[in-house]
Amino acid sequence: MKISWTSFHNVINGAIRGPEQIAYGLNPVTSEKLWPVPIASSKDLDRAVAAAKEAFPAWANTSLEERKDMIMTYEARVRAAQGELMDLLTLEGGKPRSVAAFEVDFVLRWFKYHLTLALDEEKVELQDRTLETRYTPLGVVAAICPWNFPLVLTIGKVLPALLTGCCVIVKPSPFTPYTTLKIVEMALDIFPPGVFQGLNGDDSLGPAMVTHPDIAKISFTGSVPTGMKIMEQSGSTLKRITLELGGNDAAIILPDVDISKVAKQIVSSALLNAGQMCVATKRVYIHTSIYERFVAAAVDAMQEVVAGHPDSREATIGPIQNKPQYDRVIALLEDCKTHGYTLRAGKQIAENLEGGLFVQPTLVDNPPDSSRVVVEEAFGPIFPTLKWTDTEELLARVNATETGLGASVWSCNVESASAIARRLEVGSVWINMIETPIPDAYFSGHKRSGIGGEWGRHGWRAYCNAQVIHTMKSKGSRL
Ligand code: NAD
Repeated sequence: MKISWTSFHNVINGAIRGPEQIAYGLNPVTSEKLWPVPIASSKDLDRAVAAAKEAFPAWANTSLEERKDMIMTYEARVRAAQGELMDLLTLEGGKPRSVAAFEVDFVLRWFKYHLTLALDEEKVELQDRTLETRYTPLGVVAAICPWNFPLVLTIGKVLPALLTGCCVIVKPSPFTPYTTLKIVEMALDIFPPGVFQGLNGDDSLGPAMVTHPDIAKISFTGSVPTGMKIMEQSGSTLKRITLELGGNDAAIILPDVDISKVAKQIVSSALLNAGQMCVATKRVYIHTSIYERFVAAAVDAMQEVVAGHPDSREATIGPIQNKPQYDRVIALLEDCKTHGYTLRAGKQIAENLEGGLFVQPTLVDNPPDSSRVVVEEAFGPIFPTLKWTDTEELLARVNATETGLGASVWSCNVESASAIARRLEVGSVWINMIETPIPDAYFSGHKRSGIGGEWGRHGWRAYCNAQVIHTMKSKGSRL
């Protein structure tokens, strides 16, 4: 695959910045080095924050229509670069073209939806006063992003931040800096200097953003342990934070489903992007009466999931994106083997893929509830199936987690599914559909899956202060 973009830069104060220090991302399919990327220094961060702070008052004062006009120009540029963005996503993430296309398509959906929004202002007439609630931009926002869907998760923060009048500095994961830096660079001449910047850095950059006194808000998507650190460290400046964290999403299968149809969808949901998705199905609870038949159908469906090179026409999943995550998934598999759990394997990894971080899809057949593969987020192509009989007992088991991101419930009887959905301790539930966040829906986690939320009609408020103006009603007399 030939890529026309081969140089990658930080964007600070309306200009690209050459690196003093560099790092390299690795292609997870071949483990080969990709292109050099800059490592931002603490001075780079200070420069970017100072530029954003200077740009903020004028940017916050532009009208929403002006900001939308610029976003539309940006959207047209991103749309025109779809093919190259897909190529780059496959190289840095290892994902097949179909998954990269899905991600880029979602980026465009995020643009389309956010261009329809406005911030609702509320006006209430009381006897003695008028109450106006308005929303004002917070200031400088740092968007700290993960590696699994680097482009859509970045754009999902950038659009609401810019449209509400905030300035935003994006920090990609050091594992996947390329598409993010490029998408920031593509906007260079569209927005005023300092409004939209991008910094790749090493492990010190995120913490430095979290404690920086002139950053008003951290919008973070990533793991629970990092989210906990951010919550603790942002206290020193009382920063606003939104934390979109990990989960351990359950799929609940009622006895009345069409087994082969639903089993296929569950396998897709567990293995999309090789399981590296925050709302991938990570535990499958199947009614005992159909358990054996459902597992057999799922194992059949797994034979159609082909791991391969992004350019391969057959490939439906790629490798694990990075070595630390690969080691975590392998450790989980080893733990299953050590305990003697029954493993049902998907299609074997082809020999010519050795050297890449590929993991054979694996279903773990009815391990104990206390097993690591049930309790922990795998974030890889491995998932347990479990039996259930009694609804109350099922709900207790599904809710017995520290996290609460998403879940799905499957039944021909939507009322029964909905009754279960309403009792799940999670931020989003999908009934009879694969878990897929969309820009129209508020997305948030319960329990340790996050603080606050983003997207949907109210998602913009995460980037705003509320201000209430009380205006005394004139009684005809002068003050
Ligand atoms: P991670 O927490 O390791 O890293 C995320 C980002 O945080 C990276 O940019 C990293 O450089 C930065 N970072 C690391 N330490 C930091 C610190 N102390 N302070 C500030 N920033 C710091 O997560 P990851 O491995 O990139 O992503 C995988 C995790 O993300 C999974 O748990 C997954 O479920 C979760 N995730 C959640 C959502 C969601 O919307 N809820 C979406 C995608 C992924």
